[in-house]
Amino acid sequence: MKTAFFSTKPYDQYSFTATNQAYDHDVTFFEPRLALETAPLAVGFPAVCVFINDELEKGTLEAISSTGTRLIALRCAGFNNVNLDVAKKLGLKVVRVPAYSPYAVAEHAVGLMMMLNRKLYRAYNRVRDDNFSLNGLLGFDLHGKTVGVVGTGRIGECFAKIMHGFGCKLLAYDVRENPICMEMGVQYVEMPDLLAQSDVISLHCPLLPTTHHLINEKSLKHIKTGAMLINTSRGGLIDTQAAIDALKSGKLGYLGIDVYEDEGDLFFEDLSDTVIQDMIFQLLQSFPNVVITAHQGFFTQEALDNIAETTLTNISLIEADQPCPNELVSKH
Ligand code: NAD
Repeated sequence: MKTAFFSTKPYDQYSFTATNQAYDHDVTFFEPRLALETAPLAVGFPAVCVFINDELEKGTLEAISSTGTRLIALRCAGFNNVNLDVAKKLGLKVVRVPAYSPYAVAEHAVGLMMMLNRKLYRAYNRVRDDNFSLNGLLGFDLHGKTVGVVGTGRIGECFAKIMHGFGCKLLAYDVRENPICMEMGVQYVEMPDLLAQSDVISLHCPLLPTTHHLINEKSLKHIKTGAMLINTSRGGLIDTQAAIDALKSGKLGYLGIDVYEDEGDLFFEDLSDTVIQDMIFQLLQSFPNVVITAHQGFFTQEALDNIAETTLTNISLIEADQPCPNELVSKH
């Protein structure tokens, strides 16, 4: 199927070109993000392939639909950037990659946690500077600590398994309980109890209207003083200003994020020669107990291979008018 890929980087082009040998779709790679102003690039393409920061709101969907696009293939799991109700009304099919490597994201969450706990970012720079002092690098044993997992789906389950291996006590909050987690001894509790009892809280639930700013001024009041918060899910789960206030007061002891609520203007680009205008982000960067990575949780070779394989299969199924298990349908 003739497909326009948006928001592509060299690594996307490489993995999709290699995997497409077996599929033979007619693919064109564009660097810009798909939004209303770039919609003309999709003219003549029955399918578009997009990523997490492409903007598939009403205007963009109407524009691409009016010029013949009928399929949106998300090459990611989250779909909070697509207005599914409008897509349905316009007859646009939407497919995604629900799972490609839960290990990639769960292992990255553990990486952020270890980096913050043992201050590896400071240790690395110090040793390179021949500063072998340990002052300020004191960490804590994770063994025996309580870890709260918010959302025990594919990634949360994987994260819980790793933390189980560390010898942590595991608490969880989810709208439905995961039997594999329960077998492992994970105890499901209400969100305020998870926040109050956990030394480390890791977010693995999707961004939905009900989870937007799940971590806010009110919920941060419940957390154990000095706790660590890790977010590898979606930036909108945390009210960043509230997290900054909690960091300043010492209520929140550490923050490790791979996602940021206004990441769309920053992440995936080299902005090292520009002045960042987002003052909230700049403030966050200034804290010694905050570690930020730019949405790289998914970024492993295995995940990229699986993303390409599933996306191209999704496109083939829709092209052949066959049922696609990864199709998203609006419930309205
Ligand atoms: P999943 O669907 O397997 O699991 C999500 C879990 O969250 C489910 O168990 C669901 O019941 C639970 N949930 C739903 N609403 C909830 C609520 N209100 N409170 C608590 N839990 C709730 O999804 P997954 O594959 O584990 O992915 C989780 C999230 O990780 C995705 O939504 C995506 O935003 C994020 N993600 C990030 C990256 C990255 O690169 N950083 C990569 C992939 C996915």
